[in-house]
Amino acid sequence: MNSQFFTAWIEETARTIAAHRDHLTRLDAAIGDADHGTNLDRGFTAVREALSAASPDTPGEVLTLTGTTLIRKVGGASGPLYGTAFRRMGATLTTAAGEAVRSAPDGETAVTLTELAAAFEAAVAGVRELGGASEGDKTMVDALAPAARALAGAARDGREPGEAFDAALAAAREGVRATVPLQARKGRASYLGERGIGHEDPGAASTALLFTALRAVAGA
Ligand code: ADP
Ligand code: MG
Ligand code: MG
Repeated sequence: MNSQFFTAWIEETARTIAAHRDHLTRLDAAIGDADHGTNLDRGFTAVREALSAASPDTPGEVLTLTGTTLIRKVGGASGPLYGTAFRRMGATLTTAAGEAVRSAPDGETAVTLTELAAAFEAAVAGVRELGGASEGDKTMVDALAPAARALAGAARDGREPGEAFDAALAAAREGVRATVPLQARKGRASYLGERGIGHEDPGAASTALLFTALRAVAGA
């Protein structure tokens, strides 16, 4: 997986977020302030512009620019959280790709599935540090953490990327479904107390879309 792959993933994420913008906003209307879809669509539109202006040429730079742009453009809770997630992934892959560059005479920076899984685990750690949420608090962590675990497990088992991404997407979607009966302990939805029970968490739902996009760019 090289910089073109990561650029394609982020562009597909931007398209997927745009296609689901109103759905995400409706989810946020039920337990938040009805801006999650517009927040992320604004952010990822700016990310697409930033990527096409800078055309970063390593996976780490693609993801770091994505994160920095989200922090700059998205005002809600999700901006700094997703921004941190992508920046942590970028930092992890910069190290990993740096090693790949040293070992490959042609300077090709290709990320392995194991490295990508490590990057997602760093993203989970970043979101947890910044937002203080654990799994079960009804946030994006409820989708991101199991998806990262599934990816790491698939990498350990020597699966092909396509299979690994299927497993990550299934885990993310299961995580989203599991937020429905929960009462939120972080973010705006926590202000609702028990009245938030029975609704899907918007940030968990948008996290699953990252994995929908990853699956789509990996091909059949
Ligand atoms: P805001 O709540 O500021 O309007 P958004 O609507 O864009 O921001 O994002 C809301 C989503 O952010 C929630 O559905 C939840 O998944 C996520 N979120 C909010 N607070 C936290 C937190 N402390 N840790 C992890 N995720 C959080
Ligand atoms: Mg909101
Ligand atoms: Mg808001």
